Amino acid sequence: NNKENTSFIHKKVEKFLKKNNNQKLRTRFPPDPNGYLHIGHAKSLYINFSIAKKYHGICNLRFDDTNPNKNHIKYINAIKKDIIWLGFKWNKSIKYTSMYFNKIYQYALILIKKKLAYVDKLKKHEIRKYRGTLNKPGINSPYRNQSIEENLILFENMRLGNFPEGTVCLRAKINMKSSFIVMRDPVLYRIKFITHHKTKNKWCIYPTYDFSHCISDTLEKITHSLCTLEFENNKKLYNWILKNINIKNASKQYEYSRLNLEYCILSKRKLKLLIDNKIINHWDDPRLHTISGLRRRGYTASSIRNFCKNIGITKQENLIEIKSLESCIRKELNNYAYRNMAVLEPIKIIICNISNEYIENINILNHPKNEKMGFRNIIFTNVLYIEKTDFQENPLKKYYRLTLGKTIKLKYSYLITAHAIKKDKNNNIIKIFCTCESKKNKKKYSIIHWISKKNAIKSEFRIYNPIFKIKNPNIEKNLLSHINNKSKIKKYGFIEKQIKNNLKINTYQFERIGYFIIDKKLSNNKIIFNQIVTLKENWNK
Ligand code: ATP
Repeated sequence: NNKENTSFIHKKVEKFLKKNNNQKLRTRFPPDPNGYLHIGHAKSLYINFSIAKKYHGICNLRFDDTNPNKNHIKYINAIKKDIIWLGFKWNKSIKYTSMYFNKIYQYALILIKKKLAYVDKLKKHEIRKYRGTLNKPGINSPYRNQSIEENLILFENMRLGNFPEGTVCLRAKINMKSSFIVMRDPVLYRIKFITHHKTKNKWCIYPTYDFSHCISDTLEKITHSLCTLEFENNKKLYNWILKNINIKNASKQYEYSRLNLEYCILSKRKLKLLIDNKIINHWDDPRLHTISGLRRRGYTASSIRNFCKNIGITKQENLIEIKSLESCIRKELNNYAYRNMAVLEPIKIIICNISNEYIENINILNHPKNEKMGFRNIIFTNVLYIEKTDFQENPLKKYYRLTLGKTIKLKYSYLITAHAIKKDKNNNIIKIFCTCESKKNKKKYSIIHWISKKNAIKSEFRIYNPIFKIKNPNIEKNLLSHINNKSKIKKYGFIEKQIKNNLKINTYQFERIGYFIIDKKLSNNKIIFNQIVTLKENWNK
């Protein structure tokens, strides 16, 4: 809570409200509907919505739809769903930058008439070349000094669709020698012949992010336009535009550091690259840190909000450890996840000193610290499954689980001692023959989990590792060469039968293994579990 209350943005907001005591605080969340939201967006959502709430202000949801895309509607629906799921409530009706296209167009005319904008016929690559670099000043376009009349006619022809895409654009006339590249005559309008989800075919010219964002903010009376640090230089342009179009009560931009998370990419464009290259099928792949991926993986909205709260708001760029996200969900699940004994990689145990008919009922708590979560019944019989890794024929040093001649304890049940094994023709162990006995002395035994064959139903388990082999894939140029091809491991084992009786409970702690959730998208005839997190912080890279 401390971190949240003392951030530099909170201080700026408090100062603002003191100075303008009758003004309402207004923030906005402005996604480009070109993909699904990721956890970086959750940080932005959290900042914008929590600040608005704290100071009795409002937060708008505005789709920044200036870059028409044939999937706009699909992405808008997915983004709305994720924001609602995360528990944020936007102010009144949803806004779209396209609602302001008429006004933005009028402002472009004002700039042309003030000799502050011109239609440029340079090709895209020429514009880039003329722009120069940090060490090299830019060069003026030969079209920079056209008359106002000429520019008005050209711009009108742009609007009427008389130029092919990419041949002309409207640029601001600022300073090609500015030390801020963003001020070297930035593009304000470009041509795109794509049907827009709202304005359909009314326009074939669309304002750029830089031109439309500051205007939309101001039209919505946004007092604090919060964005990530990479837009710091764009602030010069943001203010330049608002000043030169003579708009009243110009909004102000403030920057904070974006969220970077170990082993993840947080950019819609790069996430899409994974889909386009068939590394993953969909945005909700449980290995991704998209909101839909995290939801399918078993993260809750509150765990994501807590994570955002914990990381705070600063101006320092850093790489957040994945374990700080995992600990938020682990803490929650430890409190309310039902316990269960699943065997992910089973091997059969035959108990030789009891009969085939023997069935012993054992009543155990669903949660060791919460009787209110009730009890469940498991059975002990002469055929059981344990984890393959809980037995070694030739035990390594310091191996404390089951080996030939050794005794261990089955959780909630008897001691067993292994006497013999049976192998198949490939030399794999298929059965372990044991005897069982009650525990009589105080001696400590290793404890392992198990399931009786009669109480087991088949299940598939999916264990996830990071999709990238490197800690900071965001800075890599060739992302696809760092893919971890062991990021999804499927295991086929058993769960306790009674899980099937109440599929409404979908989150479990499988004892000694980790937290799992039923994958609703995949579970129809069979039950498939996604691993949410391991029990402890023993994360393998
Ligand atoms: P992406 O690369 O994912 O498309 P973006 O910045 O282009 O990111 P927008 O849809 O424009 O995506 O983002 C909406 C808001 O979310 C913006 O205010 C942006 O600054 C913020 N945002 C995006 N990524 C992050 C991040 N990693 N950390 C914090 N805020 C972010």
